[in-house]
Amino acid sequence: MIALASLVAGRPVNGGALLEVRSPYSGAVVGTVVQAGRADTAAAIAAATSFRATPTRYERAEILEKTRAALESRREEFARIISSEAGLALREARYEVGRTLDVLRFAAMETLRDDGQIFSCDISAQGRARKIFTTREPLRCAVAITPFNHPLNQVAHKVGPAIAAGTPIILKPSEKAPLVALSFAALFHGAGLPGPMLSVLLGPTADVAEALVRHPDVEVVAFTGSVPVGKRIAATAGYKKLVLELGGNDPLIVLDDADPELAVTLAAEGSFRNSGQRCTAIKRILVQAGIAPEFTRRLVEKTREYVSGDPLDEATRVGTVIDEPAAIYLEEVVREAVAAGARVLAGGGRKGALFEPTVIADVPRDCRMVVSESFGPLAPVMVVRDLDDALELANSTAYGLSSGVVTTNLNSALKAVRTLRCGSVNINEVPGFRVESSPFGGIKDSGLGVKEGVIEAIKGYSYVKTFSLPW
Ligand code: NAP
Repeated sequence: MIALASLVAGRPVNGGALLEVRSPYSGAVVGTVVQAGRADTAAAIAAATSFRATPTRYERAEILEKTRAALESRREEFARIISSEAGLALREARYEVGRTLDVLRFAAMETLRDDGQIFSCDISAQGRARKIFTTREPLRCAVAITPFNHPLNQVAHKVGPAIAAGTPIILKPSEKAPLVALSFAALFHGAGLPGPMLSVLLGPTADVAEALVRHPDVEVVAFTGSVPVGKRIAATAGYKKLVLELGGNDPLIVLDDADPELAVTLAAEGSFRNSGQRCTAIKRILVQAGIAPEFTRRLVEKTREYVSGDPLDEATRVGTVIDEPAAIYLEEVVREAVAAGARVLAGGGRKGALFEPTVIADVPRDCRMVVSESFGPLAPVMVVRDLDDALELANSTAYGLSSGVVTTNLNSALKAVRTLRCGSVNINEVPGFRVESSPFGGIKDSGLGVKEGVIEAIKGYSYVKTFSLPW
């Protein structure tokens, strides 16, 4: 049992209502959080906006490095917190801690890198003998709102770059998995981060999340989460910068010339890792007709390796989804697909929040399962005629986050890169492949095309000032 409290400028709040955090697997209370109220939200904003003692680049890099060292020394403890509150298998939680260590390392590296540019001004008839210089300045107050599915790494992707930029940030983590976020924040403060540079608030949506989004002193809202909440934020935030990383229903396109073993491995990994709860999880497998029967048979066989069960059991590869309603939703979309002609070839069973890794074949193109986002370990297989048919189907939904294409033909790969309307295309990889510093983010309903990843995110948390001098 972990007892934590929301943090205003690094200090725990007291007196607020208690949020109980339960294991999605057992239902047991694994922790509590003292929630913040409207006054705490106002205090966190005031502390951030009045803060002027921005640490130097060296000091910020040191804070990020020390936080990394502290997390490294407690990585197993943090992995267990993630598994307990989010239901993710321990091996996934350990992987997530590893990714977070990378975020901190890359953010520290970027902090030390100069980001200015120089423009000579005597380059045209209209010019002068001057030079223009650019420098990045921190913002006064950033707000980050994060989802449950990567409860540590999503937080790291907001807080790390904000600290690198020197920008005070107020974090509103998911109330479904807040324990690891608050534990992580304590590492930053323990590493010397000034209190006002990081507040972490949990509490009623109207008093915390919506109050933060609407506040005129907040200069950027960086949100990762669902499309409806993202669009609501876009409609209510008013005059401020927005970074929106929203949902997806990423395709894996498997062409006739694909390496069969690779195709099946990628399909299973992309569909079932993290209980299928990655924004870039494979949500549709588009297989060319010639290999569809053999591919599907092998995928069903492969799925047996993905043992689901107690997230804290070392043998478990797929833990629960976030809660029972989420698992019931999956059950519903599977039932709908079957009623429309699809066939469940593996899995399909549910016990509480545990939903078995499931392979579904012959999924009609207009089923809810494949048109919207099904956030769970589902592998819907759809047959396509050829590459053009696959690309058209891939582009046909409202989302545009990422994609994967399995082929040995360079021309097909290049055509896919050019034609897919989404933020990234991975050839012979899962849609979710990235490193923590590479630009990441979607278009259409998946986002506004403003990228994250450590380097791009630092730009989101700062603004460019230009100044010029006679030269
Ligand atoms: P969600 O329901 O949209 O919640 C995300 C966050 O928004 C939570 O902290 C939530 O707080 C908060 N929130 C809820 N209502 C709000 C409001 N009116 N104003 C401001 N904030 C509000 O998403 P989720 O179910 O946690 O996460 C899963 C979704 O995230 C999926 O759609 C997934 O694809 C997406 N995702 C996208 C990316 C990406 O990079 N594109 C990455 C990961 C996940 P409470 O917890 O208090 O409700």
